[in-house]
Amino acid sequence: MKYDTENFDSLDVIDNDKNHVWHHLSQHKPYEKNDPMVIVHGKGLRVWDIKGNEYLDAVSGAVWTVNVGYGRTEIADAVRDQLVKMNYFAQTAGNIPGALFAKKLIDKMPGMSRVYYSNSGSEANEKAFKLVRQIAHKKYGGKKTKILYRDRDYHGTTIATLSATGQFERKNQYGPFVPDFVEVPHCCEYRAQIDASGEEYGVWAANEIEKVILAEGPETVGALCLEPITAGGGVIEAPEGYWARVQEICRQYDILLHIDEVVCGLGRTGKWFGYQHYNIQPDIVTMAKGVASGYAAISCTVTTEAVFEAFKEDEDPRMGYFRDISTFGGCTAGPAAALVNMQIIEDENLLENTTVQGEYLLKKLKELMDKHPIIGDVRGKGLFAGFELVKDRVTKEPVDESVVIAVAGHCMANGVIIGRTNRSFKEHNNTVCLAPSLIITRDEIDIVVKAIDGALTAVCSNM
Ligand code: PMP
Repeated sequence: MKYDTENFDSLDVIDNDKNHVWHHLSQHKPYEKNDPMVIVHGKGLRVWDIKGNEYLDAVSGAVWTVNVGYGRTEIADAVRDQLVKMNYFAQTAGNIPGALFAKKLIDKMPGMSRVYYSNSGSEANEKAFKLVRQIAHKKYGGKKTKILYRDRDYHGTTIATLSATGQFERKNQYGPFVPDFVEVPHCCEYRAQIDASGEEYGVWAANEIEKVILAEGPETVGALCLEPITAGGGVIEAPEGYWARVQEICRQYDILLHIDEVVCGLGRTGKWFGYQHYNIQPDIVTMAKGVASGYAAISCTVTTEAVFEAFKEDEDPRMGYFRDISTFGGCTAGPAAALVNMQIIEDENLLENTTVQGEYLLKKLKELMDKHPIIGDVRGKGLFAGFELVKDRVTKEPVDESVVIAVAGHCMANGVIIGRTNRSFKEHNNTVCLAPSLIITRDEIDIVVKAIDGALTAVCSNM
């Protein structure tokens, strides 16, 4: 069969999809009655489905990936040229885009040194966990194997990364999990566990991490893995004072700080990386989604030279190096796309656009609070925003997830795609999420906010 992007039989495609494709995060029963959405075309922030409907995509490919927007021929051309010249050779050897992108990336990450390539956010995190575990065996007699993760954070879909995930519904029915992953409390100020706010709460939340470390025994804890801003867990930025204390704790107990930038990486928050807002120096940084904006699969596990060095100095040269391989980590399409992706962010000043438009987006969302008491909290940074829907602003009781689903459905019916916390925590799937491409304009933000405004009005009038 010759695949032709322009000429296809729509009904045939829908039928084939319906009969043979198993969609992600989807209950398939409703597809027996309704057709699945099939996306055929994208340009800028807009996508078109197979039935010709146009949407403004305010979540960059549903899961915050297409940072530079759809239809970038310059990325596609670079990938094509590279594939024709040399598509694949295992990363046991080097390749040109891999070497060039590693240098370009490290230049944006002071203090970091080495890039390990793989294919997905989960895989990048798995590599990080393996590094931590191997260091525990090499340097600490097999003791520092524990990895701490935070309630509400997500680190991936594999069994180990789910073991490191603080979202009950994501994990439900997939246990038993990998041992030695230990949860620390979340730091969502709106849902603070104690009666405190601002810096007092931030320092408290960080000190709770220390309590877990002391309870587990610092000699058993190898790493602390955190999202710079909790993404799928509800767009949560840590309060003042949190990160400085986290860094201090990691240094005090000789614990590696692993920052998961799978969502925030490559500009989403207005800096290259989310952690760069907080004056901290991680030991390991992982990234995926926005690295190549979905034009090719690529993820990176980036380490300091000190972490890398631990794998050079070894009494056992046969077994002491990082004995890991990812077949598709040797695909050249990923770094070829990533090089152009990063160049676009620089050439088009997209970090600045993210900061400016992000502030506008947050302001407009906060204005909606005056009109819609159902909005309990609005938060975010750069072009990454979330707002919680609640039954009552005083009790902060979350609305049922069916309400959030209805709001998203209403926006979709009006041509705007928004996101939401999706079966992450029982009773707390009440956050609407926005993460548009970094090229978004003020006019496009107005369209998104207007759709949300209309959806809230319609859904609340039926409650
Ligand atoms: N970490 C974070 C913070 C994520 O949000 C995700 C995906 N949503 C992942 C890791 C996993 O990435 P992937 O789906 O590419 O495996």
